[in-house]
Amino acid sequence: MQLRYSFRLYPNTGQRTALARAFGCARVVYNDALRARETARGEGMPFPKTGDLSKQLITEAKNTPERAWLGEVSAVILQQSLRDLDAAYKNFFDGLKGKRPRMGAPRYKSRNDTRQAVRFTANARWSITPGGKLRLPKIGDLRVKWSRTLPSTPSTVTVVKDSAGRYFASFVVETDACEVLPQTTPEVGIDLGLGHFAVLSDGRKIDSPRFLRRAEKRLKKAQRDLSRKEKGSSNRNKARVKVARAHARVSDARREFHHQLSTRIIRENQAVAVEDLAVKGLARTRLAKSVHDTGWSAFVSMLEYKAARYGRTFVKIGRFEPTSQVCSACGVKDGPKPLHVRVWTCSACGTVLDRDANAAVNVARAAGLAVTACGAQVRRAPVPAQRGEAGTHPKPSPVRWEQAGIPGLQAREDVKRWSSPVS
Ligand SMILES: [Zn+2]
Repeated sequence: MQLRYSFRLYPNTGQRTALARAFGCARVVYNDALRARETARGEGMPFPKTGDLSKQLITEAKNTPERAWLGEVSAVILQQSLRDLDAAYKNFFDGLKGKRPRMGAPRYKSRNDTRQAVRFTANARWSITPGGKLRLPKIGDLRVKWSRTLPSTPSTVTVVKDSAGRYFASFVVETDACEVLPQTTPEVGIDLGLGHFAVLSDGRKIDSPRFLRRAEKRLKKAQRDLSRKEKGSSNRNKARVKVARAHARVSDARREFHHQLSTRIIRENQAVAVEDLAVKGLARTRLAKSVHDTGWSAFVSMLEYKAARYGRTFVKIGRFEPTSQVCSACGVKDGPKPLHVRVWTCSACGTVLDRDANAAVNVARAAGLAVTACGAQVRRAPVPAQRGEAGTHPKPSPVRWEQAGIPGLQAREDVKRWSSPVS
């Protein structure tokens, strides 16, 4: 399995200039290629091939006075930039064909984009020096904060500058799935709660932690301050940097929360089921805000790769399962309920059901997991036939996942950015 490891970089002034040049050249090649393809499309010509574009827009362009400066950076990052464009087109076309959620057409990159990145493959002959610096062709030896050890030698490094002006080296590393955890019995369904971040079929409701809420509060304040500053003033610029920093802190905190929660759920359960919300489709509806804010899809992909890595079962069920319409106790479908209905009584069996927990149990059921329904029920209505089942399910003992000793999975400050799945 491939994992991504990120480390903070501290380039000096000269290296920052060289990186800015690299970002700029990669962007120009990307935009040139996009323009060539859009022009061909407009004229009804065939889709220009990547190999032809590489020859024309990199190799030949370097010999022209307008693009001579492309020779000042590693050719590999320019070729990788063309690959990124290919990937953007592929996603776009796959979306049109219905193979994945629809995406917009590739867009031109701007120097004002919040995230700048260049990628060096093995061909670029980048290396890690004996002194632990990151040696990049035509940029130099950059200082790295190695917050974690890499499990194997990476072949590719992406250098990223984020909206807060911080630099990161992001490595793709191949890990073997030999870290299988000892078997356990609980199996769990997870539903994206409306009032909570997630609701588990064992009845637990999970909210975002205080450190994330605090970071979000600070971001809101920074945004308010920015909106009050006069346009074009130097104070406004300072306020903008503050907003970007607060943004970065929120996304770090959110990623940290997703890592903690996904690790805990994978540790505690042998099988995990979630509903495939096809977030892009949902984003157009009233749920848009809560879905985007909580980063549900990022969380789900963490569950997915951690399940693969630690030998757990991960199931995604179709998004048309009516999880909120079916009673998790007797299986009777008694129709949709308005969003404000949080608790209802099943008309068939009389069980009083909590909307979110009931949905989580149904997610687990739809995935074929052996779940107990006890979490979904707020209280048992007096229906004798069902009584025998009530209260017979032992609560799973709380696992101290923090102490389980999986390296790098602890919620430590310095491993905040340790990994995210590679698509
Ligand atoms: Zn029922």
